[in-house]
Amino acid sequence: MTKYIFVTGGVTSSLGKGIIAASLAKLLQAKGFTVTIQKLDPYINIDPGTMNPYEHGECYVTEDGAETDLDLGHYERFLGTPTSRANNVTTGKIYQTVIEKERRGEYLGKTVQVIPHITDEIRRRIQLLEREGFNIIITEIGGTVGDIESLPYLEAIRQMQRDLGKPNCLVIHLTLIINLKSAGELKTKATQHSVKELQTSGIQPDILVCRTERPIDMDTRRKIAQFCNVEVRAVIEAMDADSIYQVPILMLHERLDSVVISKMSLPDKQEPNLKKWKSFLERIKNPSREVRIGLVGKYNELPDAYKSIYEAFIHAGAVHDCKVVVESVHSEQLERTDVARRLENLDAILVAPGFGDRGIKGKLEAIKYVRENNIPFFGICLGLQCAVVEFARNVLELKGANSTEMNPDAPHPVIHLMDEQKNVVNKGGTMRLGAYECKLKKDSKAIEAYEKKHIRERHRHRYEINSDYIEQLAKKGLKATGVNPESGLVEIMELENHPWFLGVQFHPEYKSTVENPHPLFIAFVKAALDYKVKKSLIHAKEVNVN
Ligand code: GLN
Repeated sequence: MTKYIFVTGGVTSSLGKGIIAASLAKLLQAKGFTVTIQKLDPYINIDPGTMNPYEHGECYVTEDGAETDLDLGHYERFLGTPTSRANNVTTGKIYQTVIEKERRGEYLGKTVQVIPHITDEIRRRIQLLEREGFNIIITEIGGTVGDIESLPYLEAIRQMQRDLGKPNCLVIHLTLIINLKSAGELKTKATQHSVKELQTSGIQPDILVCRTERPIDMDTRRKIAQFCNVEVRAVIEAMDADSIYQVPILMLHERLDSVVISKMSLPDKQEPNLKKWKSFLERIKNPSREVRIGLVGKYNELPDAYKSIYEAFIHAGAVHDCKVVVESVHSEQLERTDVARRLENLDAILVAPGFGDRGIKGKLEAIKYVRENNIPFFGICLGLQCAVVEFARNVLELKGANSTEMNPDAPHPVIHLMDEQKNVVNKGGTMRLGAYECKLKKDSKAIEAYEKKHIRERHRHRYEINSDYIEQLAKKGLKATGVNPESGLVEIMELENHPWFLGVQFHPEYKSTVENPHPLFIAFVKAALDYKVKKSLIHAKEVNVN
């Protein structure tokens, strides 16, 4: 029978429920269980696809084309198994389903209410994942206990606990132990209150994971256990960590996995196999070299907007025993500075995905600079589109070349709306989304990196490279090296006679995981390392000459 673990949060947001859920899942997976993680978000939007990154950070895309919460990215990066549409549910989706059902008359004249109709739909969505045969489903409830919006979710959990019985359902509450510096001690009152709040919904947490800046001594653990009505061994300390990837090891030391297994009466089959994970941690702890890569984007004050890109660099860096320092380069500020001076200390440039005109000029300037100076370049989605625009304007000398996203009347629409998008009116969930196949050309950097001909990558865009210009671009050296075999859409472009200049229409960052770093990120970091060596040799020569 499938076992259910629910993860709630108390005291404050941003305690890292997603990382705790992913870490526990990793440990259980390492012990031989099949595990998936699901996120329930209490907001009314159907999905975060239409939300501004300032509201929500990155929008993560699954293989099956769902636009989801960025926590799903953590789940995939930790577990190395793909999530799907079913792994992210919002209040918006729940209500939409219930209301559509009501319109079809399926409630047979009944009054439709939060209990039981909304809670039934929440339960159905949680249990949907059972079909895929997982041993354990971990469900993370977004928000903080005490939020009005979370109440139906807590009620659904209460009902499931009652119906499925104790060893089959477990509640982990993530809370904060406040380090009150003036008093010189850890304070547990906020935790007591948040557990009390949870209890008013009829839920007694089984395990408390306590975020803390300082180790929690035995006396404090006993106090928390007593006031919150949990066992002492179920008070788990979660110290701040240097890297999110250390958290599974911290949880292992706190025996979170063992406590969960014993409380759920699961067979404790084997020691967790974390060999690959630990060797990754070793490599990120003591890298022997370093590169600086500029991430050019308009949300650079907001690292969460590019979460998966930052993480993909950590994974790829580990492969080369190299720390990748990602320096954020604000594309709008670039418009007002000397680009060469701003970028000269960098070993490579990545131009980020994005929407709309803001910061485009800076992106184009950055691309011109790295193209002309043989500095490695990686363009993702809008980054590729900008590379095409820059090349069309400055190499093909097509005046006013642009994407029709930026100028609908561009004289040379080198990037234009995809045919399938032309009649689309609704904004939500209507882009070209999810995984599509791509066939790689011989003798390309792409095929060299992937070491195979056919790949599948995830997309999130409405615009594409205009096929009318592909020949002209290729003649001057910017060539399509990856194409969708069915639609013929260009998915990858590369510049000839440049050390590494590659743009992709898809989002490779979504598929990079700890144990399977992405081949393009691996190749790009290598190109940055090579460039750094070359740069220092040239510099040494110059010093000698002088
Ligand atoms: N705005 C561009 C498009 O819709 C690029 C999107 C992206 O970078 N994800 O095609």
